[in-house]
Amino acid sequence: MRYHLITLGCQMNLSDGERIHTVLKEMGLVQSDSENDAQVVGIIACSVRQKAIDKVYNQIARWNKSKNHRNLITFISGCILPDDRERFLKLFDIVFPMSEVNDLPGMITSFGVATPASLKLPGRGIPRNEQIFSLWNIQPDYQSTFEAFVPIQNGCDKFCTFCAVPYTRGREVSRPSGDIINQVKDLIQEGYKSITLLGQNVNSYGLDKKGSELNFAQLLREIGQAALQMDQMCWIYFTSPHPRDMSDEVIEAIAGYTHLANQIHLPLQSGDEKLLVKMNRNHSMEKYREIVHSIREKLPNATLFTDIIVGFTGEEEDQHQRTIEAMKEFRFNMAYVAQYSPRPGAASYRWEDTVPKEVKKRRLFDLNEVLRETASEFNNLTIGKTLLVLVTGPDRKPGFLKGLTEGKINIRFPAKRTDLAGTFVELKVTSSNGLSLQGEMATVKVTALIP
Ligand code: SF4
Repeated sequence: MRYHLITLGCQMNLSDGERIHTVLKEMGLVQSDSENDAQVVGIIACSVRQKAIDKVYNQIARWNKSKNHRNLITFISGCILPDDRERFLKLFDIVFPMSEVNDLPGMITSFGVATPASLKLPGRGIPRNEQIFSLWNIQPDYQSTFEAFVPIQNGCDKFCTFCAVPYTRGREVSRPSGDIINQVKDLIQEGYKSITLLGQNVNSYGLDKKGSELNFAQLLREIGQAALQMDQMCWIYFTSPHPRDMSDEVIEAIAGYTHLANQIHLPLQSGDEKLLVKMNRNHSMEKYREIVHSIREKLPNATLFTDIIVGFTGEEEDQHQRTIEAMKEFRFNMAYVAQYSPRPGAASYRWEDTVPKEVKKRRLFDLNEVLRETASEFNNLTIGKTLLVLVTGPDRKPGFLKGLTEGKINIRFPAKRTDLAGTFVELKVTSSNGLSLQGEMATVKVTALIP
């Protein structure tokens, strides 16, 4: 029997998906790249954007229609809001939270009974923390040979008003540090070159077990030390931290260990104090400014990424201007700018979505213009320098490969060899195209590790 899995949303979903692959393969199922020749098809859903949820509804409608001419078992897991879950129970054969992935074989085997019967399967009623630990204990079926994700924490206690994660994934649970360090060491041993520590709120790691577990900075230091002893080239990242929990200790840990990559993704969401309060972000602009100052001082070569929401409910033009100013001040290398859309389940869903679509669109354009300026300025400084680059695969342009610098800036270069994916190469930067770079294979030694 063959299966096909569609993963939507963030890297945490990708990592969860790698554990579903393991569970299905251990059942004897064979992975298929095409849904058309699979008998079991599933989706890992994302509730952050309405677009992703619309995609799920379209997909299941197609699958259910195709049941007229073939046998098909459909399942869904991931970030699902309670209202969607009720609807999915009527549309999918199997609906389960990721914490119950160990029950998936039982649900598939006993299939034939209406979906809600899966609710009676053994495993339900086990405390959520234990279920999450057993999910983490599944050996992932890594989908890449050089890039891997390591979950270190699940859930969120922050309750930002625009976000539904605390309701879909629950409260924060930290994974035991020993298990995390062992997984990272195994990955380095196997030759992985890019390893990302994952959590909804990665730098509040350990706070749920204060006193009996490492804090995030200590965890980074332990990982940095372990990587150092293994003496293999790799870059270790983490995403996403919350400004409220970002300490100097974390920034110093990155500065202290070669393998901890010089790249920080620090969501800002808005440059306006009042909107930050309305979003329940629980930090001031001053606090964000202090963190950026510390990053620039202690990690002068680090790139800085962020997330911004435009058109959050009630956002006035002057508040948007303050976000423009903030983006100019912090000079981000990358910003993922999203137009606000109310998510059922999030606190802001009860508030009127006051900013018209065209205004959101224009504000998004404004911020992307600022980003292009600040990113270009930084990227132009690298022209003529030789950088270490991790090759990630063929570029869209024929005859070119693409890769990422340590600071996660995209770079492409002409190459005759096609077998370089997953290796480090030295590239001389020849030009910058705003957000990305172009280079050529260098014959000289690396002179810089930026950006
Ligand atoms: S910190 Fe805020 S945006 Fe991030 S997962 Fe938690 S509630 Fe959502």
